[in-house]
Amino acid sequence: MNIIRAGLLHRHCLFNMDFRQMHLLKNQAFINGEWVCAQNKLVFPVLNPADDKVIAEIPDMDQCDAKIAVDVALEAFKTWRDTTAKERSYILRNWFELCKKNSEELAHIITAEAGKPLAESRGEILYGNSFIEWFADTARHINGEVIPSPWPNKQIIVTRQPIGVVSVITPWNFPFAMITRKVAALMAAGCTCVIKPSEDTPLTALAAAKLAEEAGVPKGVINIVTCSRKNAAPVGKVLCEDTNVGCISFTGSTYVGQILYGMAAKGIKRVALELGGNAPFIVFPSADLEHAADQAMLAKFRNNGQACIGANRFLIHEDVYDDFIKIFKERIASKCVLGHGTKEGVTCGPLINLAQTKKVAGLVDDAISKGAKVELGGKVAKDIGDKFYESTLLLNVTPDMKIYQEEVFGPVAVCLKFKTEEEALQIANSTKSGLASYVFTKELGQAFRMSGKLEFGMVGINDGIISAAEPPFGGIKESGIGREGSKHGVEEYTDIKYTLFSALDK
Ligand code: NAP
Repeated sequence: MNIIRAGLLHRHCLFNMDFRQMHLLKNQAFINGEWVCAQNKLVFPVLNPADDKVIAEIPDMDQCDAKIAVDVALEAFKTWRDTTAKERSYILRNWFELCKKNSEELAHIITAEAGKPLAESRGEILYGNSFIEWFADTARHINGEVIPSPWPNKQIIVTRQPIGVVSVITPWNFPFAMITRKVAALMAAGCTCVIKPSEDTPLTALAAAKLAEEAGVPKGVINIVTCSRKNAAPVGKVLCEDTNVGCISFTGSTYVGQILYGMAAKGIKRVALELGGNAPFIVFPSADLEHAADQAMLAKFRNNGQACIGANRFLIHEDVYDDFIKIFKERIASKCVLGHGTKEGVTCGPLINLAQTKKVAGLVDDAISKGAKVELGGKVAKDIGDKFYESTLLLNVTPDMKIYQEEVFGPVAVCLKFKTEEEALQIANSTKSGLASYVFTKELGQAFRMSGKLEFGMVGINDGIISAAEPPFGGIKESGIGREGSKHGVEEYTDIKYTLFSALDK
């Protein structure tokens, strides 16, 4: 649905906050340092998934706006690339401080458009902001090399240069962090960007841009093109194929990642792809089961299961299967409280939209029809709303069920029993995804063996939360290309240049 009229704000939806104090809720896109409408003046509504109320109507931009934004970003790159690392670090630090100062308002915007409980939204601001802080520091350590020359009177110098304009396309599940983890890194490297946030969660992106503007980020360095789902493909085509774009940095599904990778191939453009996961959560007999169950709650039910590194398959050794399931079931029953994200005590919000709810329900129904046992939950909580799905524990899952292979992206814990370490590895690795994995064991040798043999970019030993700004985040196989965070995150946005200085004796 889109309509021609100036965008509106419906701030009453952000309960708990006095809207008169809110200055980050924007209803225009951000291009070249200006708050702008779409060229065609169309808008689309941003809905609160908890109750479908319209929060704001914002520009429904198309390929024309995307082209303008790319050109603007290229113009800004010509000067931003020549700022000193110290200047870029200073501006990033300002942005970090402002996000910290405005974290409560940012958290309310996330909860309004993404539905997650306020406590989790606050956590996402802390997490997302840690990347801005990290890359403010990293900006000053993007070092080159001097390599000893094999020839007399010659010097080999290697420098890292910013890659240019980066197209940033992000999902709705962590609408702040998925942006800061890319944008702070690329800015530190000296690049500029055009961001296309998800239709479901553009307001957080705009709020972050407002703070970047206040922090002194020069015009054109950060641009945001907002659009409805209908325009995602045409806007994405410009962002991937325009000759002025140097890199496509995407976080989202493997399906869309493959489309974008194909378009990037035409121009041999750099890609950084953070795609879907299918994380195994493996519990061995030596594990501390109480601790494993606590970590399972975090790995499964954070953001109501809508996390790429969320535990997707619980593989439990037969010797401790019954004990673990008993503890896990008690935890789910007592800790998962479904409801509106702004309500005190709520730990699980709605799923992001009806399509996602239908997908989760379809996977569970398919498993039940093939013999899976529902231990808890198993259906839409219609009394709360059509996008609230009960926290679910599913047993007796077998390979013929769709839920065995697919990323659930919802609050469904899928449990399987295994007998040996080899069998656990075989099941864990039998997926095209390779993002996160979790292992619970007290045996040191087993921990090392599993770390070595799991075909995943990240392995958590005795921990269900592994992400931070310091370690490299990313996957292998169909889970992506490249890393975010750490010193590697900034390297994605640089080209290595080798210069030979010769005839030094002349
Ligand atoms: P998605 O459908 O792939 O969408 C991601 C982004 O791409 C959204 O902004 C979307 O816009 C846009 N998009 C869709 N089709 C496009 C096209 N043809 N051209 C250009 N852009 C297009 O993924 P999602 O459902 O939002 O997010 C869930 C997925 O993301 C899961 O698979 C999850 O595992 C993955 N994820 C991965 C990581 C990671 O770090 N590896 C982190 C978070 C999430 P619209 O939303 O407006 O359609």
